[in-house]
Amino acid sequence: MSELLRGHGVSPGTAVGPVVRMPDPVTEPPAGPPPADTDADVARIRPAMDLVATDMWARAGKAEGETKEVLEATAMMASDPELADLAENAVRDQGIPAPRAVWDAANTFRDLLTGAGGYVGARASDVEDVRNRIVGELLGVPAPGIPDPGHPFILVARDLAPADTATINPERVLAFVTAEGGPTSHTAILARALGIPAVVSCPEVLAIAEGTILVLDGATGTIDPDPDEATVTEARDRAARAAARNRRWDGPGSTADGHRIKLLANIGDAAGAQAAAAAGAEGVGLFRTEFLFLDRADEPSESEQTESYAAVFGAFGEGTKIVVRTLDAGADKPLPFLDQGEEANPALGVRGLRIGLAQPEVLDKQLRAIAAAASSTKADVWVMAPMVAVLSEAQAFDRHAREAGLRTTGVMVEIPAAALSAREMLGVVDFVSIGTNDLAQYTLAADRMSGPLAALNDPWQPALLRLIGMVGAAGQTEAKPVGICGEAAADPALAPVLVGLGATSLSMSARSLSDVGAVLKTMTLQQCRDLAVLAVDAPDADSGRAAVRAALPALEELGL
Ligand code: PEP
Ligand code: MG
Repeated sequence: MSELLRGHGVSPGTAVGPVVRMPDPVTEPPAGPPPADTDADVARIRPAMDLVATDMWARAGKAEGETKEVLEATAMMASDPELADLAENAVRDQGIPAPRAVWDAANTFRDLLTGAGGYVGARASDVEDVRNRIVGELLGVPAPGIPDPGHPFILVARDLAPADTATINPERVLAFVTAEGGPTSHTAILARALGIPAVVSCPEVLAIAEGTILVLDGATGTIDPDPDEATVTEARDRAARAAARNRRWDGPGSTADGHRIKLLANIGDAAGAQAAAAAGAEGVGLFRTEFLFLDRADEPSESEQTESYAAVFGAFGEGTKIVVRTLDAGADKPLPFLDQGEEANPALGVRGLRIGLAQPEVLDKQLRAIAAAASSTKADVWVMAPMVAVLSEAQAFDRHAREAGLRTTGVMVEIPAAALSAREMLGVVDFVSIGTNDLAQYTLAADRMSGPLAALNDPWQPALLRLIGMVGAAGQTEAKPVGICGEAAADPALAPVLVGLGATSLSMSARSLSDVGAVLKTMTLQQCRDLAVLAVDAPDADSGRAAVRAALPALEELGL
């Protein structure tokens, strides 16, 4: 067997196929020397813009919903005569080469949009995308974005922006590998949502030649760059077994001996709620409300919020559990209307509930809107606060929520202090939900977005599992629910471990429900507890994962 490359597996599954490289991003072209033939350089600009516009219209024609709207807006920008005028004048009057003239002209438009802020400001990145495409055309380099060679392939990229990941066609892209990126980055979350195997943080992959056949394992994060025939055949069989599986989950979630574990979905809007209901989710374990308002310059009104929440609650049947998280702004998710200012260290700054308690009018308005939406639908609405560290915060949140008329209150366990005080927290609120993404980053002191620190941010880290076990034990003592809503719950090998540690529900991207449900069903509660001991007692994350995977025959059968 050839030498394996190791990255960080973020979406399980096996893939075999040829490498197609994502083009490197277009960078600022030089401002000189002046073109030898100014008129000829001017004459290149509009045709290049037209080609890009035609390509964007064609893509828009094949897309749907929000993606279609974004692509149409982009196509219109690409043929904007004002952009052409500005760039042509710069070539003619200042002797700037056409690629740089387009670059500067587009930046002028971008800065105008950024200055306008809010929804308009959020379009600034679309202008950059158009700019890069036109400049790429003028320079004769491949267009940025996901390539389409006309056959299925394994995508290799330095990094993927969420916007790129959103345009991945899972029929074409068999899997992807990035050189950079962390395990809980948006890219990783989207890969799981699409249900395609993915490995991040594998810098060596950039040295592999285009067209090379790879075998990739998205669970262990390994890549075989020179597989022999037997390895390819075995991997193809495994991928086919996975493809043959039913992607809809027909719950309810339980262990082999009938111990009920609700399998819930993580969502951010009404469309996500409908997709989750269609995928068979038993409810929602994490509704990330801030996702509705990331591009808003001003605070949404109470009635607007009520309407947005009711649309989510209405996606599910009567009595369905929906756990709503109040705004988790700050750090990587700033909300413009909260006026947070600059912080030297935002992940350790004023974020989550800390903002809610500093600006209680914002928190109260949201809680009232959630309560109003809850009473207009038949959902069983629970509410929880993000980023809670100490008991007094849990008490304050509980008070605000009850005053708004909400009956079931909880806190997220994302900070080690909260895990260590889980019993006391459960004395105050009705439930806790463990956010393993942040709990990992704060336990291991490793930025969750960092590629080089991906191995530290691994949810199989024994220290993290030990903390989760403490929270599970507190839940049992207090006879109160302990949910898990971080990405760890979506790993079908880790899910039984989490149940063994005392989790009473698991919440994940809807695509992962069927995998997790199928594996969980093969293990009794006692077997889950035994697996938890294997993982917690392991010397490190890799050996824990390997020991548990070896003890879970269902993974092999399901091609996971
Ligand atoms: C988490 O931290 O695990 C979590 C679920 O919250 P988010 O990913 O939105 O920070
Ligand atoms: Mg979090």
